Amino acid sequence: MGTAPIGVLALQGDVAEHRKSLEDLGLEVRLVKTVAALDGLGGIVLPGGESTAISLLLRSAGLAEPLRLAVQRGLPTFGTCAGLVLLARTIRDGRDDQVQLDGIDLIVRRNGFGRQRNSFETTIAGRGPLAGEPLRAIFIRAPVIEHLGMDVEVLAELETEDGTTPVLVRSGHVLAGSFHPELTSDRRVHEVFAAMVASADLAGTL
Ligand code: GLN
Repeated sequence: MGTAPIGVLALQGDVAEHRKSLEDLGLEVRLVKTVAALDGLGGIVLPGGESTAISLLLRSAGLAEPLRLAVQRGLPTFGTCAGLVLLARTIRDGRDDQVQLDGIDLIVRRNGFGRQRNSFETTIAGRGPLAGEPLRAIFIRAPVIEHLGMDVEVLAELETEDGTTPVLVRSGHVLAGSFHPELTSDRRVHEVFAAMVASADLAGTL
């Protein structure tokens, strides 16, 4: 119990940064490049990068369908930025052939923050387990979450000119964010995921 490694999908993107974030919390990490590496994981992280490139690589590694099934079957999963795009039920401005893991009931628009705000760093407000000190958040060609399903909980929001927009959300065993907590030194978001992994692990042993 509690010994299953956490996978980091290691096809493209900021794999090393997620690995370090998880290792900072004392977790064992396994880089996932093959179907066999999915076996026995306690959870998996889908890093930021480029969701269309990751999609092509998922297909050529034969990982697209096994990963989709693992997510559907309840493997705790955390996607950041491109990872959020892969996990969304509906992708706007995506490529028709990009992989959709359908892990979380929301609509996301790729690169939705637009050209003027291609990349930016700001402060966001946490909710629930992240209430308290605001978090620094780095957005890079970030997707915008345009609609949330009923069972999706907002864990952090960004203030915009038109109100607030969710930037970190959770539904059941899936956590997804449009920014990059792996690029800052605050580990609170990875801690939330670690707690989700621990409680799924505990449920599995009952
Ligand atoms: N725009 C990228 C995509 O669609 C995501 C960017 C990122 O992960 N920083 O996949």
